[in-house]
Amino acid sequence: MTSLNTATALNGIANLRLPAWLLPPSWPQQSGEPATADLRFEDGKISSLTPSHPPQLDLWDAQGALALPGMIEPHAHLDKTFTIGRSRPSKPGLLAAIETMHQDRQHWTAEDLQQRGKRGLAWAAAHGVTHLRTHIDWFTATPPVAWHEMAHVEEHGVTLERVALVPLGLFANASVADDIARAVAQSGEHCLLGGFIHSSNWDPAAMKNLMHSASAWQLNLDLHIDEELTATAHGLTWLAHYLSENAFSGHICCSHGCALASGSEGQAQEVLALLAAQRVTLIALPMTNLLLQDAVVGRTPRQRGITVLKEAQVAGIPTLLGCDNVQDAFCPAGSYDPLDTLSCALFSLQLDTLFDQQSRLICDSAALTGNAHTQSPLAEGSAATLVVFPGSNIATWPLNSAARLVIHHGRLTHQRTWNQELSHES
Ligand SMILES: [Zn+2]
Repeated sequence: MTSLNTATALNGIANLRLPAWLLPPSWPQQSGEPATADLRFEDGKISSLTPSHPPQLDLWDAQGALALPGMIEPHAHLDKTFTIGRSRPSKPGLLAAIETMHQDRQHWTAEDLQQRGKRGLAWAAAHGVTHLRTHIDWFTATPPVAWHEMAHVEEHGVTLERVALVPLGLFANASVADDIARAVAQSGEHCLLGGFIHSSNWDPAAMKNLMHSASAWQLNLDLHIDEELTATAHGLTWLAHYLSENAFSGHICCSHGCALASGSEGQAQEVLALLAAQRVTLIALPMTNLLLQDAVVGRTPRQRGITVLKEAQVAGIPTLLGCDNVQDAFCPAGSYDPLDTLSCALFSLQLDTLFDQQSRLICDSAALTGNAHTQSPLAEGSAATLVVFPGSNIATWPLNSAARLVIHHGRLTHQRTWNQELSHES
């Protein structure tokens, strides 16, 4: 594989192994797998996607490397990230992490937020993320400094969405709920309303105000909901029944939903069926759930704490995987690489057909936005934006896939290479 440079626009890439979910049903097979593809670019857009036909001398030859469209990071916290050095919780678990984070907020100046937020977004872009949704803590009727500062965090080629992460109790006052929703709506596009909904703050009247204010301001929602193992957690059950009786014009993402895995199968199936009917998206966060659920000092966790992702997929619910917290009081590790998240899900959720089917969990921007008119990635006319994993194969991917090339609108923007000469293959 010859090297590329960032200066020239590519005519296209030959001999790419794309995932089955991305290809039309009629795509030819080769030894039981989708045949490799040739992609041609024109003015930064895809002009054709065809089964490989060598030689294509004007195209760069990927030699059968795996490739995905630009990846998405559907759930991050850029306001909290990279604070672990000064903000380490003394106890395990979600509520202790929240307490520690509150103490760290005294350091959240404009400069501190900008510096950490930019770093997080730059790391994500270098891995091949082209769409990142960050939640931003919001504790009063008016927007926090972080809401404004994150609006100025930019990275070429990455769409950044902001979600107001408001504790449910703040919506108990209808006029405050309206103030918050109005401020979010007036912040421009790529802004959503959200809430932290948990047994510790459960309030059905506040839930109604949250739904009404989102509807009144035509906002989409992304909710931290039932991030706990309490079988009687109310959030998703309440929401599912509310939506079956009340029209909601926007799209809803539900993040976490851990409690669904604690109740009975019948209860989970009923909730999933109702959410599927409303096209609600479920976002699982395997890394922080494994770390923060069933977390007791000196005791090995017995439960995985992750939502019922496979059952949600069978029920027809759009599903995604997110990283959640990176290097903060909630999670000390992480690097904004969606492949880390997928690798974690491979084991914790026992996923199979990782590349050909489940890689969609880190690429499906239509599932994130609910926009049914989103063009299929890499279809003719869409952005020539993709991530190539040199030297990869489906037996090891997503593990051992640090090497990669990120192509934005037909040009190489980031690359991390595998040095064959220094490897010890015999
Ligand atoms: Zn979160």
